[in-house]
Amino acid sequence: MNYATYTDKQIYRLCQEYGAAALAARRKFAGLLPEVDKRRLYERRGYGSIYHFAAQLVGMSHEQVDVVLRLERRLGDKPILHQALTTGQISVNKLVRVVSIATVENHGQLAEKIATLSQAAVEVFVRDYKNENGLRQPTDGSKSLRAQTGQALKLDADVEGQLLEMQAQGIDLNAFLRGALERRGREIAEEKDKLALGQADQKPFSGKPVTRYVPVKIRRVLRQQYGTRCSMPDCHRQAVNLHHEKGFAATRSHDPRHLKPLCAGHHLLAHAGDRLVQRYRSGG
Ligand SMILES: [Zn+2]
Ligand SMILES: [Zn+2]
Repeated sequence: MNYATYTDKQIYRLCQEYGAAALAARRKFAGLLPEVDKRRLYERRGYGSIYHFAAQLVGMSHEQVDVVLRLERRLGDKPILHQALTTGQISVNKLVRVVSIATVENHGQLAEKIATLSQAAVEVFVRDYKNENGLRQPTDGSKSLRAQTGQALKLDADVEGQLLEMQAQGIDLNAFLRGALERRGREIAEEKDKLALGQADQKPFSGKPVTRYVPVKIRRVLRQQYGTRCSMPDCHRQAVNLHHEKGFAATRSHDPRHLKPLCAGHHLLAHAGDRLVQRYRSGG
């Protein structure tokens, strides 16, 4: 084989193809290890230990072998995930994440779910699942947000002074602030409706070019609503993508009601068609 005559594209395609095959074979090898261990097959074939066996044959580390063996024991009562491990259908890295939320009841659904997600998307999925099902400290309410971020409100002295003065006057500060927050929400919603009308006009052949570039006014109102962070509840990671929930290619629209700033992880999940993300979509 003389690769010198190959184009870059051909070489790259071969690398991808062989790489994918190597990873799949490695997953299958890992899936065999629990059985090799049970039979102590490595001994009879002249390897000092299961670790020696795995290192010699495929270059797996001591730690990786332990992870596989531990995982197999934890999946003992979850046959679908167990089979995904032993057949190499799902990688050990994904299974290790998902085992923390897997139960006898939900594990079949989980297996189906994570089979289609990338490793990074599985991490986000598991994190959200834990939040949603209260496997972590509750994250709703201002109290836990305060605990999460370790921050109290940062008020300038003059603002704090005015609020204290109002409080001293017997004015209900909570009612006042609730009103201000409601007004803010209403103003943002109205602005988005207005901008959405402009987007609806921009049908093809209307003479206006519809590009992927999101107009400044639309970016501004989204920033007003979400700040610089991910729009998924309780996430607060830096937003890196302005996601078109209805797909820009299909709609050719930047309707701000269907645009959401997302962090890298939630953007991955959104494109994996995740159920959690979709549920929040309708909430606006
Ligand atoms: Zn997107
Ligand atoms: Zn996020």
